[in-house]
Amino acid sequence: MYELKFNIEKCLDCPSQACLTKCQYMNIDSKTAKNEIIKIAQGEDSFVLHNCVTCYACEEYCPMGNHPFYLIVERQEALDCAPVPRPLIKRAIKLGIPFRGEPEIKPIDGPALNMGAFSELMPLIQGKLFENIPVISTDARKMFHYFCQLMYLHYAKSSVIKERLPGIINTIARHKPTQLICFHDECYGTYASYCPAVGIDVPFEPVHFYEFLFERLMELKALIKPMNLKVAYQRPCSSRLSPDKHLFVNRIFELIGVEIVKRTYSDENALCCAGTIQGQRVEGSRKRARELQRKNIEDMKKAGAQICVFNCPACFQTLGRIVSENGIKPIHMSDLCRLAIGEKPTGWR
Ligand code: SF4
Ligand code: SF4
Repeated sequence: MYELKFNIEKCLDCPSQACLTKCQYMNIDSKTAKNEIIKIAQGEDSFVLHNCVTCYACEEYCPMGNHPFYLIVERQEALDCAPVPRPLIKRAIKLGIPFRGEPEIKPIDGPALNMGAFSELMPLIQGKLFENIPVISTDARKMFHYFCQLMYLHYAKSSVIKERLPGIINTIARHKPTQLICFHDECYGTYASYCPAVGIDVPFEPVHFYEFLFERLMELKALIKPMNLKVAYQRPCSSRLSPDKHLFVNRIFELIGVEIVKRTYSDENALCCAGTIQGQRVEGSRKRARELQRKNIEDMKKAGAQICVFNCPACFQTLGRIVSENGIKPIHMSDLCRLAIGEKPTGWR
């Protein structure tokens, strides 16, 4: 059985309790934070377990690498206090089951780009940036064989992740990738953060999509024409599992000549898209989600953003239309990079 490595001693010696004092969705002072995280570590109930909106950010806030968010999720499951209604959990668990036979496995023996559960988004990986990179999980009927399963952190179901993930890793490993470029941040977080945290072996090197994009842009530097646009970036929850890769956002923007606007809700203070909040079982959660989205978009507008850049397809689905109704054009990062090298992404006008 895979067990989360969480060290309560680190919390007892912790000078900051940043995991909970920095939480943007609860107002917690440092004395309360220390009491609550220790209670949670000891297996006791806490108001934190009931009020957490599963934004993942405390994984980034903890300066000791102690995995407070993974701990919260394990306790929510053990104490049966999932943040979303049971029918939604049941439906979500069924959604991620690998089905429709085995995928076709072609050994690659080199770097491969993994679309995970986003096979239908192949239009986002077209053009020169992606030339000569073998892609796996291209068939939407088989994509759940490559689904990293980490989404179940939002459903208090660590047990489902631990049960299915070794099989998913085995399917990917049969392609023999030396490096696995993860199209989705969440897949990268799974292999680079969650697996080591619970002791699941990963027999390939995960590569963050933005690191890959940055390196490809460097190779194609001669084609880049500075875009002179003002952009806001919508940071996804799963990026909190790889804060060391967040710097590639600014590196890419600098390279393609766009200006990231200065705003309140960016980087460590980023607000999540609120997609999971609107489905939570706490009364008033829809209203709360709308209010957070309004604050976030007002902040982009006030800062003068013309474009909102997305990493996560789920954030795009949740916020894209609202952003657009507010006069800001939504775009996926890979499409923005394609525009910078003179290509026209699918559907771009
Ligand atoms: S989880 Fe991290 S930030 Fe929170 S109290 Fe423990 S060591 Fe400190
Ligand atoms: S996951 Fe987000 S909402 Fe939950 S405790 Fe951590 S920082 Fe707060």
